Amino acid sequence: MSPTLLSLAFALALAASTFIQFWLSSRQIRHVAAHRGQVPAAFAGSVTLAAHQKAADYTVARSRLGLLALAFNAAVLLGWTLLGGLSALNGWVLDASQALPADWQGMGYQLGLVAVFVLIGSLLDLPWDLWSTFRIEQAFGFNRTTLKLYVADALKGLLVGALLGLPILALILWLMGAAGPRWWLWAWGAWMAFNLAVMVIYPTVIAPLFNKFEPLADTLLKERVERLMARCGFASKGLFVMDGSRRSAHGNAYFSGFGPAKRVVFFDTLLAKLNGSEVEAVLAHELGHFKHRHITKRIVLMFALSLAGFALLGWLAQQPAFYLGLGVQPNLDAPNDALALLLFMLAGPVFGFFVTPLASHFSRRDEFQADAYARAKSSGADLSSALLKLHEDNAGTLTPDPVYARFYYSHPPAAERLAALAS
Ligand SMILES: [Zn+2]
Repeated sequence: MSPTLLSLAFALALAASTFIQFWLSSRQIRHVAAHRGQVPAAFAGSVTLAAHQKAADYTVARSRLGLLALAFNAAVLLGWTLLGGLSALNGWVLDASQALPADWQGMGYQLGLVAVFVLIGSLLDLPWDLWSTFRIEQAFGFNRTTLKLYVADALKGLLVGALLGLPILALILWLMGAAGPRWWLWAWGAWMAFNLAVMVIYPTVIAPLFNKFEPLADTLLKERVERLMARCGFASKGLFVMDGSRRSAHGNAYFSGFGPAKRVVFFDTLLAKLNGSEVEAVLAHELGHFKHRHITKRIVLMFALSLAGFALLGWLAQQPAFYLGLGVQPNLDAPNDALALLLFMLAGPVFGFFVTPLASHFSRRDEFQADAYARAKSSGADLSSALLKLHEDNAGTLTPDPVYARFYYSHPPAAERLAALAS
C-alpha cells in the first residue's frame, strides 16, 4: 500500500460520500417543500393541513442545518487528516507528555492524545447541537430542556464517558503494545466484554443518572401490558415510566436489559399521547423485535463486524502508509497505537458510509416483521393509529423523497407501514 494511493482513495471516498449526502438532502428538501401544500390522499381524513405543514417545515429546517453540518464536518475531517491537524495535535501532546514520570509517558501520552482529541471533537459538535436543541426543537415546540439541564447532562455525560471509556481505552492500548501480533484478537475480546457489561449495567446504573424511572402506576394499563406479555411468552423485570418530558416532547418506548427478563420502559410523553390499546400495540411491536431475534442478530452482527474491524486495524497499524496516507507522521520513539485507533475511527466511517442503504434495507425489513407480529398478537388498527399519532407528534414528514427514504430510513415511511398493516 502506498501513502499516495491511500490519500487519494480517502479523498475520493470523502468527496463521494459528501456529495451523495448533499444530493440526497437536497432532494429531500425539494420533495418535502413541493408536497407541503396538500395532505396526501391516504391521510386526508386523519391528518390536518396544519400538522402536515408543520412536519414539512420541521423536516426542511432540520435538513438545512444538516447540509451546513455536512460541509463543516467534511472540512473538519479533512483538517484532522490530510491537512495535518492530528499530526500537529500529536506533536503537541507528545511534547507535553515529556513532563510525566518516565514509566507513565507511553500510556499517559496515548490516553492524553485520545482524550484531547475527543474533547476537541465534542467542542466542535457543541454549537450544532445547541442550535438544533434551542433553535429548531424550540421553534417547533419540542424542546423541554433548559440550558441548565443541558449543561448538567453534558458534564455528566463527559464524566460517565471518562469513567467508562478511559479504563477500556487503557486496556486496549496496553494490549496493542504488549499482546504480540495477535493483539487484535485480545482487544476484540476485551471490547466485547466491555460492551456486554455496559448493556447489563445500563438500565440500573447509567440510565438513572439522567432520568427518573418509576414503576408503572396505571393498574389498568399494567394488567393489559402483562396480559400481552403473557400471551407472547415474555417475562419482564418490571414496567417503568421514564420522565422523557424533562428534555423533549418526543415520545418513545423501549426494552432494556439482558437475558430472559427485561425491563420495559415507557416515556411519560408516550403514555400521555396514546390510549391503552395503542400502548399495547406499540409494545407488541417491540416484542416482535424480540420474537424475531432482531436484537440478538444485531448484537451478533456487531460482534462479527468488530472482529473484522480489529483484524483490519491490526494489519493497518503495522503499515507506515496508513499513517502517512492519512496525513500523520508516525512517532519514531513513542507507541503509535493511539494514533492508529484515532485514524481508524476517523477514516472508517467515510468508507462505511456506502453500506448505509444496505443497513437501512434490513432495518426496514425488521420493522415490517415487528409490525406483522404486533398485528397478530395485538391489533393492526391500534398500531396504525398509534403510529399516526406518534408521527404527527414527532412532526415526521408523510412525503419523504423516495430515494432519500430508501437510502437512510431505518423505519419504513408512514404510508408504506400503514398500507402493510391494513393489507
Ligand atoms: Zn421497531
